[in-house]
This record gives sequence, C-alpha cells and structure tokens, in this order.
Amino acid sequence: MAAALSAARSGAQVCLIEARPRLGGTVAFSLIHTLGGLYDSAGVLLNAGLAEELVVALLQADSSVRKRRMGRTWVLSVCPDIYQAVVQGWVESDRRVTVLTETRVVGVVRQSDTIRALELSSPAGEFRLPTKAVIDATGTAEVVNLVSSSLVQNEDRRAAGGLIFRMRGTPPDAVAFPKGLGILRAIRDAVVEGSLPRQCANVWVDTGARSDEVYIKLPVPIPANWREQQEPAEVTRDALEMQAAVVEFLRRMPEFAQASVSRTGELGVRDGGQVRGEYLLTADDVRCGAMFADAACRCTWPIESWDPEEGVSLEYLQDGSYYEIPLRSLKVRGVRNLWAVEKCLSADRYAQASARVVGSCWSMGEAVGR
Ligand SMILES: Cc1cc2nc3c(=O)[nH]c(=O)nc-3n(C[C@H](O)[C@H](O)[C@H](O)COP(=O)(O)OP(=O)(O)OC[C@H]3O[C@@H](n4cnc5c(N)ncnc54)[C@H](O)[C@@H]3O)c2cc1C
Repeated sequence: MAAALSAARSGAQVCLIEARPRLGGTVAFSLIHTLGGLYDSAGVLLNAGLAEELVVALLQADSSVRKRRMGRTWVLSVCPDIYQAVVQGWVESDRRVTVLTETRVVGVVRQSDTIRALELSSPAGEFRLPTKAVIDATGTAEVVNLVSSSLVQNEDRRAAGGLIFRMRGTPPDAVAFPKGLGILRAIRDAVVEGSLPRQCANVWVDTGARSDEVYIKLPVPIPANWREQQEPAEVTRDALEMQAAVVEFLRRMPEFAQASVSRTGELGVRDGGQVRGEYLLTADDVRCGAMFADAACRCTWPIESWDPEEGVSLEYLQDGSYYEIPLRSLKVRGVRNLWAVEKCLSADRYAQASARVVGSCWSMGEAVGR
C-alpha cells in the first residue's frame, strides 16, 4: 500500500494486486493491534512521509487510537478493523492506483534480467499484466519465489508464526501490569502441571484498544516446508486447538468469567523467507546503528525473536539510537526491475526480527515506490 501510494505520487501508473477481498494485510487479518516501528525511544516519530500520514489518519479516525508505551518502546494502539477501513479508504481514494482485489500473482514472465509481465488469477479468470517495475510486498516473497526459489533465503529454524484472537467482556485493565504477568504465570504453571499443551507456555496477553478487550497471541511453529504444504490449514487446526484450551483455562479466572472470543485472526507468518538482495542487512548493522548513503528509512525496534521453542526475547537498541535500511537490501539481486519490501527484505533473521514491524514496513514501501 505504501509502495503503491508513493509510486503513484511520483507519477507512475500503479496496479496494486491483492489476493484477499480487502486491503490491510497481516495487520487487518491476523489482528495486530500495536503498530511498532513508528516512534523512537523518546516517543518521537522516527520517519516522516507516509508513516507520519498513517499515524495522523489513524488518530483522526477514532478516539480509541492512542500512542502507548510498551516496555521500552512506543507503539500506536489501534483496533485492526479501524486500520483496515482507514488504509482501504486511503488507497482507494488515490485515483492513480488501480486496486485489484481477489487477484493473485501466480506467474512471472521474465526475459533475461527483466520482468516483462505478471500472470494474475482472479474470479474473472487468468490474465497477463505488462510491467515496467514490480514490487513484491507479499510479506513472504511470493513473487520473488515465482521468479526463482534460489532468490529466497529459507532458514530451517524460522521465527514462530502467530494466531491472535480477541476476547471481549473483561473488566478494564484485566491484563494490565502486573495482573497480566500473574495470568501468564498461571498459564505456565498449568503447562508444567500438564493441564495445558506445552506450546501454551509462550502465550502473550495484552490490553486491547477498547477497555473491555484483551488480545491473546499464540506462537505457532511454521514448518520449514510451509510454502509447499498443500494444507496450511493443518497448522491452523493445531493452533485452534491450542486456542480452545487457553480460552477454557482463562474462563475459569474471575477476570475472564464473562468474556468470550470476539474474533480470531488468520494465521500470521512472521518470517516467510527473505529475498537475496544487493545488500544483506545483518544483526551487527542493527546493533551498531549502521548508516547508509542509500538509506530508505530509519528503524529502532528491538530484535524481537520469536523462537518456536523458547518464545519471545527482546534485544533493545541503545536509547536514542537507530539504524538505517539501505535501498540495496530492498532490491532483488540480478533482476533489473524487481524489488522486495517489508517482511521479506534482504536481511538475516535477527535483522529481519527488528525491521519487520509496521512502521518500518510503511517507510520501506514508500522509499521503493518513490
Ligand atoms: C503473528 C504476527 C504478529 C505481529 N505482531 C506485530 C506487532 O505487534 N506490531 C507490529 O508493528 N508488527 C507486527 N507484525 C508484523 C506486521 O504484521 C508487518 O509489519 C505488517 O503486516 C507488514 O507486513 P508486509 O507488508 O510485509 O505483509 P502483509 O501485511 O502480510 O501484506 C502482504 C499482502 O500480500 C498479499 N499477498 C500475498 N501473496 C500474494 C499473491 N501471490 N498475490 C497477491 N497478493 C498476495 C496478502 O494477502 C497480504 O495482504 C506481526 C506479524 C505477525 C505475523
């Protein structure tokens, strides 16, 4: 969306292709309610441009949207439904962007080092779209993988994905600090006793945008061959069983006695493989605050590793510091007119674990679109 808006503002004729019926991606459909990567450690906006415009538009959209301190970071707390409505309206109101929803990129027509066209599949049938430049913003390098699987780095031990669900009907601040810690401790004790499945030990709970709601994140291991799997539904089925067990457990607590699940997100993939770009952003770049002549944007989010066994760990950057993402790590190696932004940028897994948050994604997309 960011790439489409900024390319259009720069004068390009843009076609935004989205497989789902609506825009909003993982935030809207996997239920992300804390937008990270927008602010520095003092709570000041880190990047101007579309990231700032997004913050302004969301704050104006609803009084429940607010900037919030979370650990040592700042996030924008927003209901995913509000995010969806705002970004959909924003992109659709730009008449220079043609939005094709329910349309999937299923093939790529390549001539030596140039992509000439994309093959698209929609309810109306299959067709070809000639292209001058292609930006893969699928989050999981779907388009780059169609060009060549050798252009995607696939690590066996990838970050856990997540199934996020929302419960409503809790008293205000039901999981605010320190109550939330008590709930997590009770869940871990239940795992040790064997009354909850082992993976529940790494469940995460957080206050929602509304006072009576709680978001619960379940870590879900993503198998190495997830892209080839006929049935990603199998992974989701296991996660839904885990969800049922957690809900049953929580409802025995007084804070959750009146609560029920109001929405369950789609399985979210944090790390679907990074592209091989002209530059590989590394954990050292993140830790030492690397700067680049071709900087696309600034980032300061901690290295947020979601280990499938150990759960989440956070490695913070020094207060007041940031690093930059170079445009070269968004340019796919060896293909003249192919870029890959956001979650599938060219980075090692630790750098990706810092760079993949929403604010940085908007700024990366904007830089490449421009
Ligand atoms: C479980 C989980 C928790 C997260 N928590 C947070 C958080 O708390 N805070 C935060 O800031 N960030 C969080 N993130 C990261 C956040 O989701 C991303 O920053 C954000 O979604 C932007 O990612 P993206 O643009 O790369 O991809 P997405 O948002 O996933 O967008 C990619 C879009 O491409 C579409 N698509 C895919 N393949 C095709 C195809 N072949 N043809 C056409 N369209 C296609 C998809 O339908 C989707 O709409 C989390 C991610 C996950 C998975």
